[in-house]
Amino acid sequence: MSHTEEARKRGCYCGTWDTNPQGFEALGIPRGYCGLCDVCGRPGHMRHFPGAVPYTGTWCDRHWWRVVWLDPRASLGCIVWLVGFSLLGFGLWWFRH
Ligand SMILES: [Zn+2]
Ligand SMILES: [Zn+2]
Repeated sequence: MSHTEEARKRGCYCGTWDTNPQGFEALGIPRGYCGLCDVCGRPGHMRHFPGAVPYTGTWCDRHWWRVVWLDPRASLGCIVWLVGFSLLGFGLWWFRH
């Protein structure tokens, strides 16, 4: 699979490896990645934020999934928080009755 195909699937900028690899090499980014994680500095992928926020950041795989699942601004993270709060609310209600 070419870098461009992988990038399309993941929604990141790895396609640049097929067109302009010198740019990434100059930044010290290893092959197969397109950025360094904003959180921990490890090699990762630059992608659009997974929610309705006009933001593009770079995350390693671990921090990417943390954003997707736990950030209330992400579409999935938002549901996780909503479900979490309803459960908490129900728990409190149940506890008091
Ligand atoms: Zn990438
Ligand atoms: Zn990271």
